[in-house]
Amino acid sequence: MKTNYLFLILLILSIAACSTFESPKLYQKLSITPKPVELERTNTPFSLDKNTSIDFDDNIPELAIAAGYFNKFLKDQYHFQLPVNKKSDTTIRLVLKKISDKQEEYQLIVNSDSIVITANQTQGILHGLESLKQIIYPSQELSNGKIEIPGVKITDYPAYSWRGMHLDVCRHFFPKEEILQLLDAMAAAKLNIFHWHLTDDQGWRIEIKKYPKLTQIGAFRDSTIIGHMADNPKKYKVERYGEYYTQEDIKEVVQYAGNLGITVVPEIEMPGHAVAALRAYPQYSCNGKHVDDFSEWGVSDDVYCAGNEKTFAFLQDILSEVIDLFPSPYIHIGGDECPKTKWKTCPKCQAKMRLLHLDNEMELQSYFIKRIEKFVRSKGKRLVGWNEILEGGLAEGAMVMSWQGEKGGIVAAKQGHDVIMTPNAKVYLDHYQSKYYEPLAIAGLTTPEEIYNWSPMPKELDAKYKKFILGAQANVWTEYIPNNDHLEYMIFPRLIALSEILWTGKDRKDFADFTSRMNEMYARLDAMHIHYRIPYPENLLPYKIFTKQKIELPLTNGIPSSTILYTLNGENPLEKGEKYTKPLLLNLKQDVELKAVSVMPSGRHSAVITSSLRYRKPEKAIRTNHVKAGLTYHLYKGEFSSAEKLTGKHTTGVIESLMIPKETPEHFFGLQYEGLIEVPEDGMYQFRLTADDGATLYIHNKLVITRDGFSYGSDAVGYALLKKGLHPIRINYFQAKYGKELRLEASLNENQTPILLHYFHKAQN
Ligand SMILES: [Zn+2]
Repeated sequence: MKTNYLFLILLILSIAACSTFESPKLYQKLSITPKPVELERTNTPFSLDKNTSIDFDDNIPELAIAAGYFNKFLKDQYHFQLPVNKKSDTTIRLVLKKISDKQEEYQLIVNSDSIVITANQTQGILHGLESLKQIIYPSQELSNGKIEIPGVKITDYPAYSWRGMHLDVCRHFFPKEEILQLLDAMAAAKLNIFHWHLTDDQGWRIEIKKYPKLTQIGAFRDSTIIGHMADNPKKYKVERYGEYYTQEDIKEVVQYAGNLGITVVPEIEMPGHAVAALRAYPQYSCNGKHVDDFSEWGVSDDVYCAGNEKTFAFLQDILSEVIDLFPSPYIHIGGDECPKTKWKTCPKCQAKMRLLHLDNEMELQSYFIKRIEKFVRSKGKRLVGWNEILEGGLAEGAMVMSWQGEKGGIVAAKQGHDVIMTPNAKVYLDHYQSKYYEPLAIAGLTTPEEIYNWSPMPKELDAKYKKFILGAQANVWTEYIPNNDHLEYMIFPRLIALSEILWTGKDRKDFADFTSRMNEMYARLDAMHIHYRIPYPENLLPYKIFTKQKIELPLTNGIPSSTILYTLNGENPLEKGEKYTKPLLLNLKQDVELKAVSVMPSGRHSAVITSSLRYRKPEKAIRTNHVKAGLTYHLYKGEFSSAEKLTGKHTTGVIESLMIPKETPEHFFGLQYEGLIEVPEDGMYQFRLTADDGATLYIHNKLVITRDGFSYGSDAVGYALLKKGLHPIRINYFQAKYGKELRLEASLNENQTPILLHYFHKAQN
């Protein structure tokens, strides 16, 4: 630990010595993210110094707070502050005035004697000040007591009114101070909704005065699963875990967010995800009995009893306290993933269904949500729920968050309900964010580029329903995110990509331009001490084959202010690396183990990537006429943890292609496939092997892909240089529990279009 720290200091000093350290010259001017709607450069630069006054109507306290934020920024970055409402030759004027019908619109005009920000509302003034901060930092330095600000005229407003982020504080808890820091970063990206997931099976995180046991008991659990939920066997850390926010904490967060123009939407989960509450008050479950800790991830069968009148009184008491704490016009009540197991056998739930002539438990859930919606509405608030609240009929004024794809959102919009798009495949920030070198995550792959290329507006929605799509938000579930550094790593930069598509709108989207502006955003996140993910040098695969011995290899990461360090002999580039300046000229007569890393001006660095670079001659095809279509397979029954260790008795058969034969059991088996594949031409083939659980691929008896061990259907890539014709292939696979999947795809010469693989096996005579 000590040596690492010393090394970091040496690294910072050595980069600083290169004289490029944090130089404003490395940063583009007028780099604003999200990109403004209209930006016109003018020839009227403004010189800001300590006499420049910030002027505003001091009868409006919100403007004083906004001016205070700007002064804090100047103090943090440039070590001086401006007077407010003082007579001065140069001024920054904050003007509230009706300029348009667009709620959050602002205009920012930089003239030689004044900077004027005009907006309909304080929120617009805040957005304008944020843009001004971005014009200043990091591209401008303080020189002779002055900061030069380029002349510009900006008119700007968001494409969507709901631009949010959700945070689960139940699976893991994040203290108030960390929430405040996240809110700062959200405001910098002009986001305006913070959806706070405060209750779930694993913990109840908000103090409720009337029911103190919710936090005394429900905020703590005695053990927590470690590793992945799919691991077999499961492992637990037996240690009391928990914490909660007092009502004073909540008020402070709500106030802080409000000052930044962010609405905090609380979520109180019901009727499912209720274990923490039911541990404290088991009388509101179906059988009224003690409920155990929920120490793992997933969905519990223990839910609130929908047949007990007292359950509704309990929940309404809780909601009343919550509503008093949050000025938000929206109250989120969850509504997702509610198993009906207990309701089916509960006399009270069944009696309620008979009384109300409900046909099934889905309708009982709908009754539950409708009743809560009515209560929430009676308090002057609007109910928001996950898309499962559509099941059995949607409550009158409810808003829907579409998380299981976009379908629920489309259905709700067509019924005239407001919708927030949060499809899990697109905006769940608990997914992996690159193919390699990432910390353990739940599943999936969601890159900033995929988020950027997505649109919250479903293509199939008719124009007349588009107004119901209010916007989108990123959802951050924290099963696999145990601390704040990890949290910020998962959120940034992906949240910035989402903020741009929600603000800038699809007509002005440009991912290359966005990427170039991230250079400056990273510097701003550094200034906020946000532990974002640093991109490692791109386009390097763990294993790469070349058909030429001499190659030229560029290394880029898209961040001009960063340094790329590399080694060619497998040594750690952070210790022994050379600074990358131009494409590497390599001779692959000997195998090369390239390692590379991106280092930011702050001294923080990306993951170290390793790429085995190889020169290989193509594999010759096998000449034989004695083949039949299909692969031979051997089926091993038993519990395996590796595809390489299939043992015991087996049965043998032939199957037409690489599929899991019907005769296999649901769980616990292994398969070995043998045969030939036919490739259509000479070239370098990329193979992608997807397995749930594990698999390996051999071609010509050489290991091409290892995707072994337990997984929820993740994939891996390998390469082989093949001549046209038939090549021997072997695939090992095992399945433990849960989903089963095995898939092999191939493409030619780095072309992403898949080619059709034909499988054969040697004929017996
Ligand atoms: Zn019940």
